[in-house]
Amino acid sequence: MNLKKPVRVRFAPSPTGRFHIGGARTALYNYLLAQQTGGQFILRIEDTDRKRFDPSAEQELASSLRWLGLDWDEGPDKGGPYGPYRQSERADIYLKYINILLEKGLAYYCFCSPERLARVRHQQQKLKKPPRYDDHCRDLSPIDAKERVNAGESYVVRFKTPKQGKTTAVDLLRGPITVDNSTLDDYILLKSNGLPVYHLAAMVDDHLMKITHVLRGSEWLPTFPLHVLIYQAFGWEQPTWVHLSVFLNPSGKGKLSKRFAIDPKSGARSVYVLDLKQTGYLPEAVNNWIALMGWSYDDHTEIFSMDELIEKFSLEKLNPSPAAVNYSKLDHFDGIYIRSLQLDDLTHRILPFFKSAGLPVDETTLSRITPLIQERIRTLEDAVEIAGFFFNETVEPDPEQLIGKNMTAADSAQAARQASEVIASLPGFENDAVEKSLRNLADEMKIKAGQLFGVLRIAITGQRVSPPLIESMQIIGKDEVLHRIEQAVAILNRQI
Ligand code: GLU
Repeated sequence: MNLKKPVRVRFAPSPTGRFHIGGARTALYNYLLAQQTGGQFILRIEDTDRKRFDPSAEQELASSLRWLGLDWDEGPDKGGPYGPYRQSERADIYLKYINILLEKGLAYYCFCSPERLARVRHQQQKLKKPPRYDDHCRDLSPIDAKERVNAGESYVVRFKTPKQGKTTAVDLLRGPITVDNSTLDDYILLKSNGLPVYHLAAMVDDHLMKITHVLRGSEWLPTFPLHVLIYQAFGWEQPTWVHLSVFLNPSGKGKLSKRFAIDPKSGARSVYVLDLKQTGYLPEAVNNWIALMGWSYDDHTEIFSMDELIEKFSLEKLNPSPAAVNYSKLDHFDGIYIRSLQLDDLTHRILPFFKSAGLPVDETTLSRITPLIQERIRTLEDAVEIAGFFFNETVEPDPEQLIGKNMTAADSAQAARQASEVIASLPGFENDAVEKSLRNLADEMKIKAGQLFGVLRIAITGQRVSPPLIESMQIIGKDEVLHRIEQAVAILNRQI
């Protein structure tokens, strides 16, 4: 079902560390919804936790989102009608709303010292009771409390959670979740440093920023009833709440680690978006991959371009069950997207990988190589592994590898020597002529063409796996090809 009404959705990361695929998926789903309905996608930086604040995180998440093509309509750098979009710049707004709750008697000042709270917690643990605030300041007279605040005493502000009744919080995917209010804590809303916690700041912002749908991680399910109570305390209309599935390790056991995932097939793999970029994945493949970690269109379609995702995405088809991260799938998608790229596009995308490998790459040569490797690479980085040798002045073939299959060093040397003579005697260097003459030579020598090509491949490329040999020879050039074969003959001769 396509939502007809334009949504206002937000991605609200806390800049506390590197940007990973979990965040990317939340951002993607929000983006898709906004695009699909002609709504707005807002980037809000939730940086009120100053202890965990990491100054480089905002930069990294912005570059990651841009690389994925998940551009936002309103945000700290872009502005917009409901800014500022960085919570640390909204402290006075939160204070205003804290005061509203205090005046309504729905929040209260708490002066308990950390030491007292630790003692209470300790006592509760001993009695095997759930750790909870013991209401010490809950019923202080507001006038007395205000006097203590004015006198400079340190305080926090707590939510006055109703003692009676039940709260029902409705998640679009999970239906109503009802809890007894007596099981809820009097959560802190405003910390002693004057900054609000997530529970207050995010609710105020979502309301003021006119957010219609909140798509967020399911780590917020336990405090979801509190969020609903905060909305009710202000008398605001709630957004549609959607808590996304949890990512599991590739093994399917345990929550995905923040730093890396251990894939039984390929070892440790990074969960950070910019690492995926650096190791040569295409943003198209990453988006497709993460889109399917918690959403499916039907039971068989796997490839979705961004336009198709925008058209087909729907909240109803989100799956709340935990999803294991599968890197083989990502490799598979990346290969598919690489093969679907126009050659020019692929050349432009692999170029930086050759540069960062320190190779003296030039675009003209690279554009001749691209068609030879497009079918053979899974990531852009693979291109360097398979085709980096084109830009090396020399190759250093492994002497043992130069010896052909079921051949001796002497046979191999002879085959290489004769190949070099045959090639040298050709008037030109056209593919067909080179291939034909080498095949004839193999026949004459009573060896298989594969054996001869095997020796020449190592001699010319230095690698067992390379792009098609004859075409590669064209790029390297006749003189250099002859030179490399002669070098191989010399290496082989030393092994006789
Ligand atoms: N800042 C919160 C986080 O990073 C945002 C949760 C939300 O989207 O409401 O988890």
